[in-house]
Amino acid sequence: TIEARNISKQFGGHTALHPTDLIVRRGEVVVILGPSGSGKSTLLRTLNWIEPADDGDIRIDGESLPWRFANGRRVRRGDAAINRTRQRIGMVFQHFGLFKTYTARENVALGLIKLKKMPRAEAFAKAEALLTRVGLSKQVGAFPVELSGGQRQRVAIARALSMDPVALLFDEPTSALDPETVNEVLNVMTTIAHEGVTMVVVTHEVGFARRIADRVVFMEAGRKLMDLPVARAFSAEAPERFRAFLRHID
Ligand code: ATP
Ligand code: MG
Repeated sequence: TIEARNISKQFGGHTALHPTDLIVRRGEVVVILGPSGSGKSTLLRTLNWIEPADDGDIRIDGESLPWRFANGRRVRRGDAAINRTRQRIGMVFQHFGLFKTYTARENVALGLIKLKKMPRAEAFAKAEALLTRVGLSKQVGAFPVELSGGQRQRVAIARALSMDPVALLFDEPTSALDPETVNEVLNVMTTIAHEGVTMVVVTHEVGFARRIADRVVFMEAGRKLMDLPVARAFSAEAPERFRAFLRHID
């Protein structure tokens, strides 16, 4: 469970995120929709401290993120605490961020070896099992350049799963992909969601949101305008602003 309360973020004088609450329960899939610049990525990035929030409180399975005060400002507490947070909440980006000189298996195993101090043979075996889970059992020895965009994104998902995270965050995981490979990534995400992985997904794929989400959040101008169970979000009960947004992107 992730409990974010009253988190906010400014850049210069600009408020990217007004004080916002977001609760994500274990096993839940929350999809965040909203126009460009509405604060979706900022909200997501504060959850695992890629972007420390200016204010508010974030708890992961009941444990507060490690704030520290310096000169009246909140700053992050140190690499050990941050790394632990990043391991507990994995992130998958639009661009895959794989190491070009490492095979798929090595890309997935690296965190297990470096961060979890797992013996190499064990890490490689776990990496192969994870790659099989995302449908890449034949590509374990391939380098990123030998993989399609969709396959690379699936390696990135396997890598994020390798840390046994409390939750996985996805920021537009398919928006850099060719249209024909979008579905292979969405299908893998659907599979792992059904396996019970807790997920928060920023996407423009509304059909996917309908199929996979337990809850839909709609952001506009740095505020959360809607947070509803999926059936109610796609009903006449949803706020007019959200329904207008859906009409625009259909
Ligand atoms: P998109 O759909 O285009 O990805 P978004 O909903 O993810 O948009 P954010 O990236 O969260 O939006 O940005 C929210 C606001 O904060 C925008 O006005 C953006 O310009 C600003 N912003 C985000 N990151 C930074 C940054 N690192 N420095 C300055 N301003 C930023
Ligand atoms: Mg964004």
